[in-house]
Amino acid sequence: MCDFDKGGDTVTAIGLEATPQKCVFWVASNSSPEKEIGPFLESLLTKLYTIAFAKVSSKLMERENLIAKCINFAAPRIKKYRALLKNALKRCLDHLRTMENEDLTGLSEWLQRWESQQDPDLVLCRFAYDQRKSEPMRMLARLSTEPKYKSDRHAIRHSFGLVRHYIGRLGHHFRAADTLLSCVARLQEDLHDFEVRCIPRPPKSSIPTADGKTNLKSILVRMLPAKSPDHDRYQEALVEMDTKHHLSRDFLKNYKDSGWKARVHAEIQVLEHFHAGKLSFASGDPFIACSKPACFCCLLYFQHHPGDFVLPASHRKIYLNWRPPDAVPGDENSELCLRAIIDAMTKTIRRDALRQIEEKVPPKAWHPDSLTRITESAVLYDKIRESLDNDSACGSKEPLMESEHCGNSSWTRNDDLSSVFYADFSGSENGQTMPEACYSFEERSDESDGGVVL
Ligand SMILES: [Zn+2]
Repeated sequence: MCDFDKGGDTVTAIGLEATPQKCVFWVASNSSPEKEIGPFLESLLTKLYTIAFAKVSSKLMERENLIAKCINFAAPRIKKYRALLKNALKRCLDHLRTMENEDLTGLSEWLQRWESQQDPDLVLCRFAYDQRKSEPMRMLARLSTEPKYKSDRHAIRHSFGLVRHYIGRLGHHFRAADTLLSCVARLQEDLHDFEVRCIPRPPKSSIPTADGKTNLKSILVRMLPAKSPDHDRYQEALVEMDTKHHLSRDFLKNYKDSGWKARVHAEIQVLEHFHAGKLSFASGDPFIACSKPACFCCLLYFQHHPGDFVLPASHRKIYLNWRPPDAVPGDENSELCLRAIIDAMTKTIRRDALRQIEEKVPPKAWHPDSLTRITESAVLYDKIRESLDNDSACGSKEPLMESEHCGNSSWTRNDDLSSVFYADFSGSENGQTMPEACYSFEERSDESDGGVVL
């Protein structure tokens, strides 16, 4: 809800600190959160607390108000989804005109409704949410996975997948609002007296410029032990991959954008803020929530950090402008700890890269770094409504939460919020295959946080 724009600047992470007086929501963003995200989060949490005590009869109206508030805040993001959806729709409709397939009856007409959409954001998002289980959406899911042997990012199946993805994203606010509302009764204690505090964003730093050693040959030498007997074998495979997939050209293209700056991602900012300040997590749960699944470097940073934080879900992309946080100046332990983490991360990345070279795996096709968030569970809305209708203002019922581990949607009554949000992206999300690791060379992703996928 706080990540109100696309492109990565507004990616938001939150950690809950328990203090004797109150619960503190520490919020960080890839850009500074003080101006917009912090105040919005505070007003959102206040609103949720009000809803917790609202009369049963007014809960549906409160839900509508909450959704309208969130959609209004996310106007920049929705505007971009509209434009991207339009582009993908055009390609799909052109393709469907060339097809004769009885199984796709009505799909073109349904897509044309989206193409001519001029409705206000709230109406559009509601329509997207209402249509998420419709037959045309199932057709799109099917078309986006066929034929599986083609991995070209320009294949038409990607356009079908994108249309489905953007519609899912447009309906997200309704879904997210319902999830929040289903938790309200359990959050009353945390929201009774809370404070939102923003973590100052670390400065961005320049990306090193390419030099005579920024080439595949030199990189391979640096990745292997001196005089490695495997060098020639890897070199041969790399040359073959470079000829086929233009790895060098695409890799060097990453260095030509002088506007790029390296930055510390939001979830790492929160992690280091809690670790350095020795803060206590609420309910003793060292979980850091983020508006997007973590990139591969953030995942490795969590994995190798001595703080024992809950591992985040990850889309496993690697961004060129990722950078680690700075060590605490003058603190030798902090410097040693940082070096140990980076060494361990490098070891894993090197191992995976060498394996990819050995297997001559081509660059992976683009995949979104946000979830489409459409489940096949047709009971979602009804269950939420039932939960809202039945809960009293101070209801003691535990909320219904939806977990999406490996895309299998199931309802759980969960005592540990972190496990609800911890999803393994190495599986799939309702048919959307998520690669195990993505070392592909691609253009800047329209869903990315400003980096490039390696
Ligand atoms: Zn990251």
